[in-house]
Amino acid sequence: MNTAFDLKKLEALEIDSSFINSLPGDPVTENYTRQVAGACYSYVNPESFPQASLIACSRDLAESLGLDPRECQSDIFTQVFSGTRLLDSMRPYACCYGGHQFGNWAGQLGDGRAINLGDLQAPDGKLWTLQLKGAGPTPYSRSADGLAVLRSSVREFLCSEAMHHLGVPTTRALSLIASGEQVVRDMFYDGHPKKEPGAVVCRVSPSFTRFGSFEIFSARKDTDTLKTLADYTISRNFPHLGNPDKAVYLEWFREVCQSTATMIIHWMRVGFVHGVMNTDNMSVLGLTIDYGPYGWLEDYDPDWTPNTTDAEGRRYRFGNQPMIALWNLVQFANAIYPLIEDVEPLEEILQEYKDGYEKGWLDMMRSKLGFQESFAEDEALILNLIETFALTETDMTLFFRQLAEISSDSDAVTALQTLEKAFYMPELSDEAEQGFTAWLQKYLERLGKETCSDEARKAAMNEVNPLYVLRNYLAQLAIDKSEQGDHSMIHELLEVLHSPYCYQEGKDHLAEKRPDWARTRAGCSMLSCSS
Ligand code: AMP
Ligand code: MG
Repeated sequence: MNTAFDLKKLEALEIDSSFINSLPGDPVTENYTRQVAGACYSYVNPESFPQASLIACSRDLAESLGLDPRECQSDIFTQVFSGTRLLDSMRPYACCYGGHQFGNWAGQLGDGRAINLGDLQAPDGKLWTLQLKGAGPTPYSRSADGLAVLRSSVREFLCSEAMHHLGVPTTRALSLIASGEQVVRDMFYDGHPKKEPGAVVCRVSPSFTRFGSFEIFSARKDTDTLKTLADYTISRNFPHLGNPDKAVYLEWFREVCQSTATMIIHWMRVGFVHGVMNTDNMSVLGLTIDYGPYGWLEDYDPDWTPNTTDAEGRRYRFGNQPMIALWNLVQFANAIYPLIEDVEPLEEILQEYKDGYEKGWLDMMRSKLGFQESFAEDEALILNLIETFALTETDMTLFFRQLAEISSDSDAVTALQTLEKAFYMPELSDEAEQGFTAWLQKYLERLGKETCSDEARKAAMNEVNPLYVLRNYLAQLAIDKSEQGDHSMIHELLEVLHSPYCYQEGKDHLAEKRPDWARTRAGCSMLSCSS
């Protein structure tokens, strides 16, 4: 733990940048849209926002970075983390990367509205890259403006921090700052552009390198830069692997597959749907990155996608996330193939991903159900539960919290009453009632094979089944208020989501089913990429 003594003033922070010190940069320093070849980044300065004002900051992240959280309230904090003022040691840059979007190679993408400020060494020695999102255009902005609207910035800020406290691997968010300027967006791409308040989020991560960061050099047949970036990534983020050679690249690939599987299992555990799992949005560290039109499952529907752009193909639906991660890993394997030139071991590792994912998912589902033992029959029981969910709208979060309340010596009918709170319909259909009763009978029998007490089971279940998640409508309510100048709900959510597994007195309104009005409202049930 830090002591107040260790914590620094903002101006005392030393920012370095191993990314620009180690990798080839774009010799052009003017800021205009272009294709950038043979370089991993371009120097670019953020815009200045003289009217910027702080909306919220993550004090615990500030502290773990070694920054005195009191500094977050200072003018200089707002200036630095809106991009308006640079510390002397900062040399901002935007990264070049490509990506497969919705299954198609999209060519160069890059940090179109992200600007890296450099690396900070935390008191524990860990290096973190600080990155502003929405601080103005870069050479990678293509035809867009490099800015971000308040609504999407609130969503990114809150969800990054919520995911972290849920125990899901993620990039973090240090601050949410209103830019004080307006941004024009056509939210539903239907010819109705509107002015909206702008904002800048400071994201923090050990690395922002994506699968697409490698794909771009492979697609351009630039094996030298591909190798330089891979070697740098291994030395910076996978130092335990040692000096790169073919075997090390393969081991690296194995770790990328494993961390990706772990991340997806966590998403499936908490009911998170990323919404845009393009390869440029896949972190090489297996961190959840780029919070755009993501959503939280309310009723357990594996086919649900929050992204309106994805509404037809549903490529990025909840239940498809493990498969899409695999598809993305195949693209990553193709990208690093020139360093390995051997298909077979890559395929073996991809197979390990599939097997590892399945096993990890089953273990995770067992833990959600409160099983400490493991039996072959568990898989059928788990799959049967998912089929049963389809019989009526069932709130995923409330279901698992209520399930922990069931006493193992009760009968299925009594147990079903305990679950009532999780169902959206006021009364279950006969089919649903029979389905859940039958499932509960099997579940209670299965609980009979466990040795731990009900109390211990409940405690264990409540450690993996959150009570508070960033429900889509809650984020939208916080945005509605914030757009009116009242940021109190952002602060309330930030605080409650800090301890998502613990019941918090007076916060029942943040652990309720989605109200009916939110079923079809924009922002609550469907989101566009326009942000
Ligand atoms: P996303 O779908 O948010 O991951 O974005 C895909 C690509 O578009 C990335 O290269 C982004 O940096 C870029 N992009 C998205 N929105 C903007 C924007 N407002 N200005 C510039 N680039 C953007
Ligand atoms: Mg992105």
